[in-house]
Amino acid sequence: MIKRDVIVIGAGAAGLFCAAQAGARGRSVEVLDHAKKVGRKILMSGGGRCNFTNMYAGPENFLSQNPHFCKSALSRYTQWDFIGLVAEYGIAYHEKTLGQLFCDDSAKEIVDLLLNECNKADVTITTRCDILSVEKTESGYSLTTSNGEYECESLVIATGGLSMPKLGATPFGYKIAQQFGLNVLPTRAALVPFTLHDKDKDTLAELSGIAVDVYASCNDTTFKEAMLFTHRGLSGPAMLQISSYWEAGDCLSINMLPNDDATALLQTARTETPDALLATCLNKVFPKRMVQSLIEYHSWRNVPVKQLTHGECDAIADTLENWQIKPNGTEGYRTAEVTIGGVDTNDLSSKTMMAKNVEGLYFIGEVVDVTGWLGGFNFQWAWSSGWAAGQVV
Ligand code: FAD
Repeated sequence: MIKRDVIVIGAGAAGLFCAAQAGARGRSVEVLDHAKKVGRKILMSGGGRCNFTNMYAGPENFLSQNPHFCKSALSRYTQWDFIGLVAEYGIAYHEKTLGQLFCDDSAKEIVDLLLNECNKADVTITTRCDILSVEKTESGYSLTTSNGEYECESLVIATGGLSMPKLGATPFGYKIAQQFGLNVLPTRAALVPFTLHDKDKDTLAELSGIAVDVYASCNDTTFKEAMLFTHRGLSGPAMLQISSYWEAGDCLSINMLPNDDATALLQTARTETPDALLATCLNKVFPKRMVQSLIEYHSWRNVPVKQLTHGECDAIADTLENWQIKPNGTEGYRTAEVTIGGVDTNDLSSKTMMAKNVEGLYFIGEVVDVTGWLGGFNFQWAWSSGWAAGQVV
């Protein structure tokens, strides 16, 4: 029987950070993970450079059934606190865009930071450990694992969401929540590319590899970022962002001319270059390959612009600025960066992350129904929620 003050299940961003905090308070802490390696998502993140936080992170960048829940943790351990820690370690970083901070060199530096913080705080980390059962005892919890029996006062669940099962994701956290009577909100893949219906896919596949800046809107939310056509459908930051707001059956509204006025563009062409073909006019604002496909896909007449009727011009302008496309679905958890939904925040304390009705049981990170936008927000939630629990476990 191994006795610890605190056991953290899940050696990802939230679990390791929480363990280091608790260890630094003098608690004996062990982190258990079924994977061979710790922090695998961190290593994969940000194209190997880890977008570890966002300078502008605030509660408005998160989705949750209770949008107020994340406020306490985010305000007590902020992006500036984590940036300070990164700086203390001498890790070089840069802002890529929109406040997104990436390591200059490698995501491994963030994993090394977390491991060093755990090491300083005497945290034990055990990998390749399967958790077979968890039971409540009088003084805390008992765990049966492939590494033997454990007992602890505080049990922290930091097993993340369902995205990328290849990187070790499992529904373990949701099952534990249910076992102890917490509500688990329905989950779905988010920050994920869209797939298209065959008809759209076949025509738009020709555009594979082309990226354009767009406004992408769905369910009263709009993002201005790049959209990438792929051979499977639509991707790029704009699509990943809006995927978090999309539900099956919804249409996306895409403005492919976020910096221009399509009506004015066509009117100017009709006045200044009336004999130019529609394609020539559109080539000024879109890549050539894209123009041909757009004309075919929307069955526009590629004639001198003076021959287009006002009705046709209005329809073209409207399509360019308000293209309605109904995705077939998303690529799902296989490629999603995060999972929406999860442990209901109504059942947790926003200050400590402890289950309101289960003494000593905590949930942190992505397993909780708090999901950040693309851009470093999800790691910030892992640090902030991990820190909040780390102060009290
Ligand atoms: P995780 O980091 O997923 O850690 C969970 C841990 O629990 C894992 O180590 C797992 O092995 C373990 N575990 C799971 N089930 C069990 C079980 N049954 N028994 C024992 N252990 C278990 N966010 C950003 O902010 N910036 C980025 O640049 C970014 N890039 C990303 C790139 C990719 C490819 C992916 C998939 C995600 C990315 N994210 C990014 C999202 C971010 O990685 C997650 O939100 C964050 O890792 C969540 O932290 P967590 O500690 O809650 O869960």
